Amino acid sequence: MNDKSHVSLEQHVCLVCGAAFDTGAILLDKRLRASMKHHTTTGWGLCPEHQKLFDDGFVALIECDPQRSGAHGERMKPEQAHRTGRLAHLRRTVFAKMFNVPIEDKLPCVFVEPGVIEKLQTMTAPAAA
Ligand SMILES: [Zn+2]
Repeated sequence: MNDKSHVSLEQHVCLVCGAAFDTGAILLDKRLRASMKHHTTTGWGLCPEHQKLFDDGFVALIECDPQRSGAHGERMKPEQAHRTGRLAHLRRTVFAKMFNVPIEDKLPCVFVEPGVIEKLQTMTAPAAA
């Protein structure tokens, strides 16, 4: 059986949890060749759950292992981040106060080093991830 198709359901990968989710878009091979898998990941986004938290004014803190992540020093790209699986959500206003940095309105998440989330949880009670 041929598992390739000329149509494919577009998926994005959630920046926060790394899960692939359907965008609702359908990709069509221009020449109608069966060239694609049934799902095609085209980029990053936010899954419905994390989109909702973002809309509600939360920023996601994603713990990454700097040793195993690609970037050093520079701003980390999502594909370079080695997620440890630990997540926390903080209200933007709380985050800005805590870290004393303004946070961009459009920023859905920040990458933090191991230990940061643990520390936060002793200081405050972030919403369940
Ligand atoms: Zn997600």
